[in-house]
Amino acid sequence: MASIGLASFLRRNLAELKEKGLYNTIEPLEGPNGPIIRIVGRDLINLSSNNYLGLATDSRLVEAAVEATRTFGAGSGAVRTINGTLALHAELEEKLAAFKHTEAAVAYQSGFNCNMAAISAVMGAGDAILSDELNHASIIDGCRLTKATVIRYGHSDMDDLRAKAQEARASGKYDKIMVITDGVFSMDGDIAKLPDIVRIAEEFDLITYVDDAHGSGVLGEGAGTVKHFGLSDRIDFQIGTLSKAVGVVGGYVAGSRDLIDWLKVRSRPFLFSTALPPGAVASCIAAIDILRTGKELQERLWANAAYLQQGLRRLGFSTGVTETPITPCIIGGEEETQRFSARLYEEGVYAKAIVFPTVPRGTGRIRNMPTAAHTTEMLDRALAVYEKVGRELKLIG
Ligand SMILES: *Cc1c(COP(=O)(O)O)cnc(C)c1O
Repeated sequence: MASIGLASFLRRNLAELKEKGLYNTIEPLEGPNGPIIRIVGRDLINLSSNNYLGLATDSRLVEAAVEATRTFGAGSGAVRTINGTLALHAELEEKLAAFKHTEAAVAYQSGFNCNMAAISAVMGAGDAILSDELNHASIIDGCRLTKATVIRYGHSDMDDLRAKAQEARASGKYDKIMVITDGVFSMDGDIAKLPDIVRIAEEFDLITYVDDAHGSGVLGEGAGTVKHFGLSDRIDFQIGTLSKAVGVVGGYVAGSRDLIDWLKVRSRPFLFSTALPPGAVASCIAAIDILRTGKELQERLWANAAYLQQGLRRLGFSTGVTETPITPCIIGGEEETQRFSARLYEEGVYAKAIVFPTVPRGTGRIRNMPTAAHTTEMLDRALAVYEKVGRELKLIG
């Protein structure tokens, strides 16, 4: 093979991405990531954050962070297993367990980290993992850290899952077998068929693992997809993030006391990466308290989502198969979708295009993320822009 230096590798590949229009330029926000964001001095309606409940900018979380920072400092000083575990971490974990209706919980530095941590702590050589083909990148990477055999099943295809579970069990080749799924799939907004997955898992003795990054704070009166289906005592691993509906940063695993005890001695990001900072932990505690004491924010989120989805459909757009506030607006071709998003931006609406290879070719979409913090007036303005751009590009009549 011809040798190639780093500089030419980078130059060649960057040029190729730019040529194909796949190079992503990042524009920093000049203020908070709220329902209106400022970029290069312009205010835009923000339909692209994961800040479902508007908590990222909530004054109660901000005050909690400031107070904890003054009391405990800016950083936690060490990894959790040395002496980076502050009273705040313990308090957060107790609250997360209560929130998730599990015996215990452990917090990590991110949701991504949870999947790096938890899968490889229990799965290894001689095991198998059944994984939905649309699972999040962090699940795919988490599986790669194990020596287990990964078996992909068709997206939410319960016949396929059942057949592959049966085959894996019957082969006699595997000790432990795990089934892993997102709770809510982030590109289409559909919900995993957890009651079927639990039934199949019980039939074939599978470990169950649900990454509910987009369900927590949104479904099940805030407790997530597992609670939504009343399955809190039948899922082994519940993964959540503290960076979407909770509005801050971090992730957690909720489950049995033994599972959490095991993760605290065996999962590598817990052992080898510094603990979440005090300010972030205190904000998360404040957010969980808000989630557990009222449903007002969730109700506003769902009302705003229904309003936006009905508005888009009334204009003649398709919002796909969503069952959650995630609101795809299906456009079609890759270039057309990029052009649509660029025109929205020019007209004052920030909503990202999602195209191949993230979603199948020809199903490019604008993904809209309404939040509890949007006003009806903001959503009306966004819909008016959708109507204008849709007519201009002849996607609607
Ligand atoms: C967003 C997301 C993550 C990553 O969470 P972070 O806290 O942002 O690291 C993990 N899993 C799923 C399913 C996600 O949607």
